Amino acid sequence: MATLYFVATPIGNLEDISFRALRTFKEVDFILCEDTRVTKNLLDHYSISTPLISYHTHSGLEKNDEILRLLREGKNLALVSDAGTPGISDPGGKLIEFIVEQMPKIVITSIPGPSAVIAAASISGFPMDKFQFLGFPPVKNKRKKFFEEVAESRYPVIFYESRYRILKSLEELKKIDDTLSLVVCRELTKKFETIYRGIITEVIAAFKKDEMRGEFVVVARRKM
Ligand code: SAM
Repeated sequence: MATLYFVATPIGNLEDISFRALRTFKEVDFILCEDTRVTKNLLDHYSISTPLISYHTHSGLEKNDEILRLLREGKNLALVSDAGTPGISDPGGKLIEFIVEQMPKIVITSIPGPSAVIAAASISGFPMDKFQFLGFPPVKNKRKKFFEEVAESRYPVIFYESRYRILKSLEELKKIDDTLSLVVCRELTKKFETIYRGIITEVIAAFKKDEMRGEFVVVARRKM
């Protein structure tokens, strides 16, 4: 029976990879990845030459069928996302849903490692025994509802945001509650890692002074 390994990869620093992940990459028949350039960069760093197959949100049914065929032929596959733990707010999530539905008996194994949500939670300084993770804010509709959910939660809330919308999202959140405490983690594990901490108004002011480059995780906590 074939095994599908869901393998976590670095969220920036290429040294954040487990021995087991590297061994698995060498042992499987193929590695399924989002962007072949991103994954090739990681594999080259560790001199691994296992063939890659790309999948992404728009790959469509043909690609899904190809993956099912490989598994039915007994091929062992590793699946990675561009960064972090596959299946968490990325195209790996839809793919695993499809595979579990089509092949309920397939063995799927996790090879855990970095995830931006957990990295941010662990350094937030908020009580994290319980927290909510909401993924990305919607791009168009229901944004206000999303930010109300953030502001009203009893527990710290974590969400992802891109460089294009981070400031807009923080401004919208501020309109709902300008007393929220925030930790905004930019470029975790990378050269320009920056952690902004403070009341939302302070964080936005600090933000405006900097260039809005990179990737962001926001942790918000209601005033208690
Ligand atoms: N599955 C991934 C994980 O486990 O972290 C997340 C994939 S999601 C498509 C990508 C988002 O994660 C980015 O837009 C950003 O919000 C967050 N992210 C990923 N790497 C990051 C980093 N190094 N620093 C801050 N945020 C990061």
